Amino acid sequence: MTPKHLAAKVAVVTGASRGIGRAVASRLAQEGARVVVNHPRGEEDAAREVVNEIVGDGGDAVAIQADVADNGQVQNMIETAIKHLGRLDILVNNAGICPFVEWFDMTEEIWRRVQDVNLNGAFYCSQAASRVMRDQGQGGRIISMSSISALVGGGFQTHYTPTKAGIRSLMQSLAIVLGPYGITCNSILPGAILTDINRAYFDQPGQIQKDTGRIPVGRLGTPKDIAGVVAFLASEDASYINGADILVDGGLFVNLQ
Ligand code: NAP
Repeated sequence: MTPKHLAAKVAVVTGASRGIGRAVASRLAQEGARVVVNHPRGEEDAAREVVNEIVGDGGDAVAIQADVADNGQVQNMIETAIKHLGRLDILVNNAGICPFVEWFDMTEEIWRRVQDVNLNGAFYCSQAASRVMRDQGQGGRIISMSSISALVGGGFQTHYTPTKAGIRSLMQSLAIVLGPYGITCNSILPGAILTDINRAYFDQPGQIQKDTGRIPVGRLGTPKDIAGVVAFLASEDASYINGADILVDGGLFVNLQ
């Protein structure tokens, strides 16, 4: 990857007000992309902070509110992005939720909300963005945050793991549909990355040490570990990677024996 290899590109990063999305937005901006920092209602201050940080570092970013679970809001977000930044080259489907819930306590409402945000949101954003990329005629990148949970189960994540398997599958199918337009579609499968999504879990006494013991590289992941992989998949160097998934877990998945 050459420095500023994403100059002249425009990226939309969903759920970029914190965690992995925030790190991805910052990294893509460092590589020269102009970035849409998507956030849900109530996260205006956090999103503004991300935008200010990017602009302070000499980059260009705009915050756009949209609940990715609402197709109408997604359409508005993409239209607003084009109005402000003129084009769209990279979509990062990052927004996601994972409220840890016991199977027997799982309500239909929680189940549906997780499907709506994680999987349906990725569908709405991918369809709206790919229409713009197709019409531009210059290819594009769709990079989606799946999870190691696409490959393994989770006792408190019975609502979540199917969405992550679904996102991986969506990228595989879209790779076929959109490849002819030069739009590559791939997923990233993060392992255990310390963010707000799992902070309560890792705040339990001894939990970090216990889980870290199963990770061969000896540490939890950071949002920056994921942002670097997104920057690579968005680059020219990755132009022949399509329909793939990249497991970024420090070796956790293979450490079975
Ligand atoms: P996080 O810190 O909780 O960040 C999630 C982001 O998504 C937040 O900015 C959140 O906004 C936003 N969001 C939630 N619902 C949204 C909606 N309806 N519309 C738009 N934005 C919404 O979690 P994270 O760890 O960075 O997770 C990012 C992605 O990585 C998720 O898809 C997650 O499933 C995936 N992932 C994470 C891990 C991990 O270990 N952390 C592992 C595998 C995969 P608010 O601030 O309002 O909540």
